[in-house]
Amino acid sequence: MEWETVIGLEIHTQLATKSKIFSGASTAYGANANTQACAVDLGLPGVLPVLNKQAVTMAVKFGLAIGANISRRSIFARKNYFYPDLPKGYQISQYELPIVANGTLTIELEDGTSKTIGVTRAHLEEDAGKSLHEDYHGMTGIDLNRAGTPLLEIVSEPDMRSAKEAVAYMKKMHSLVRYLGISDGNMQEGSFRCDANVSVRPKGQKEFGTRTELKNINSFRFVERAINFEVERQIDLIEGGGKVVQETRLYDPDKHETRSMRSKEEAMDYRYFPDPDLLPVAVSEEDIESVRATLPELPDAKQARFESELGLSAYDAGILTGDRELADYFEAVVKSCGEAKLSANWVISELSGRLNKEDMTLAESPVSAEMLGGMLKRLAENAITSKMAKEVFDAMWNGEGDADAIIEKRGLKPADTGEVEKIIDDLIARNPEQVEQFRAGKEKVLGFFVGQVMKASKGKADPAQVNQLLREKLK
Ligand code: ADP
Ligand code: MG
Repeated sequence: MEWETVIGLEIHTQLATKSKIFSGASTAYGANANTQACAVDLGLPGVLPVLNKQAVTMAVKFGLAIGANISRRSIFARKNYFYPDLPKGYQISQYELPIVANGTLTIELEDGTSKTIGVTRAHLEEDAGKSLHEDYHGMTGIDLNRAGTPLLEIVSEPDMRSAKEAVAYMKKMHSLVRYLGISDGNMQEGSFRCDANVSVRPKGQKEFGTRTELKNINSFRFVERAINFEVERQIDLIEGGGKVVQETRLYDPDKHETRSMRSKEEAMDYRYFPDPDLLPVAVSEEDIESVRATLPELPDAKQARFESELGLSAYDAGILTGDRELADYFEAVVKSCGEAKLSANWVISELSGRLNKEDMTLAESPVSAEMLGGMLKRLAENAITSKMAKEVFDAMWNGEGDADAIIEKRGLKPADTGEVEKIIDDLIARNPEQVEQFRAGKEKVLGFFVGQVMKASKGKADPAQVNQLLREKLK
C-alpha cells in the first residue's frame, strides 16, 4: 500500500520587543536567572498586565506580509494549566479571536515548482519560564526571565505532504520573520521553534489519518528527522494491525526516536476564558495602513527582482534572498562593481564558503561588500586573473587592506598576451609527441599544456585565455 504523509506546523517565534508583552521587564537573552522577571511576570497578586503595543504592531506586520486578515478586534484569553515555570497558573494567549487569520506562504520545492501553504492563524501569547534540570542534581531550577516574552504562534493548515516540504516551510517562515525584523529567529536561544503535527493516510483517501504532535523542535535538521521517523513509526504500526493514537510525542535527537508524552485522554482541559484584566485589542484601518507603510521588500519580490533585473538564475536568486543580510550584502557588492552574475558567484561560493568554514556570520566578515566589489571590478576588467582574485580575497580577509592596495603591493598583473604566446610556442616546439596526441583527438592533453603554461608564467596567465590560445595554436 502507498501512504501519503500529512503535516501541519505550529511555529512559535519570539518577538523582538525590548520589553515583555505585559510588563516593562527586559526580554534580553542571557541575563542571570530571575533578574528579569517583575511582579507581573511572577503573577503576584495585585498587579495588572498592560499590553505592549510593539508586539501588536509586529503581529500586524506579519499578518500583512502573508496576506492575512487582520482582526479589528481580538481577545486575550487565559489558558489554564499548572506547571512550575508558570507562576500565574495560566498563560495569556489568544483563542477564539486571534489577531491574524487566513494567510498563505509560498514555498519552493526541490523540483523547482512552488506550493502555497495555508496559514490558519497567528496569535499573540506570552512565553513561560524555563525549567532547568541539568545543573541541579535531583532538583529542578526555575528561571523566570523568559516568562512574559512575547510570542507569535503561527499555525499552518495541514497542507504539507513530506518532511522536505515542512522544512521548506519552516525555513521560509524563518527568513520572513527576520526580513520583517519582528524576531531574531535565533533557534539555539529558542526564539524560533516548532511543533509538528503528523499523520499518514492511504494514497487516494480523502479523510486525514489520526495525528500525533511532535513537541518543541528547534532545528531544521531535527524537524526533518523527527517527521521521517514518526511517519515510519505510524506506517509500521498501521501495517502491523495497530492504530495511531492521538497524542503528544517528544523527539529525542540523541536516540533519534519519538516518545509518547501524553495521550488525548490525558490531554489537559485548558478552561480557556477571556482574560478579565485585559481589554479587547482594537486595530484601526489607520493602524494597519501605517504598519503597511513600514513593510520591507519581501523575499519573493526580491527574488523576482534579482531574476528579472539582475539576470540571476532562480537558484542563485533563491539562495541570496534566503537571508535579508545576505541579500543586502550582495546588492552592495553589485552596486560597487556593476557585475551581478560575478557578484552572485563570489558571494555564494567564496564568501559564504569562507564564512562557513570559519564559523562566522556575515556581520563578522572581515571583507566588506565594498571591498569585495572593488576586487571584482578589477577582475571584470581583466586587471587580475581569477586565480589572483582568490589571492587578493585571502589577503583582504587577513586584513591587508583593499584590493587595489594588495594588487599594487604584490605587483599582481596578468602576463601579457605576447608573453603567453611565447611560452606556448616554446612548449609546442618541445613536446611534439603531446601535440600529436592532441591532434589525434586526445582532449586530455590540453590539461597538460595548460598546466605547463601556468607554471611557466608563474600563475600570472589567465587560464581562460591560455585555453583559447592553446586551442588555436595546437590545431
Ligand atoms: P489543536 O487545537 O488540537 O492544536 P488544531 O486544529 O489547531 O488542533 O491543529 C493543530 C495543527 O495540526 C495545525 O497545524 C493543523 O494543520 C494540524 N493538523 C490537524 N489535523 C491534522 C492531521 N490529521 N494530520 C496532520 N496535521 C494535522
Ligand atoms: Mg494547537
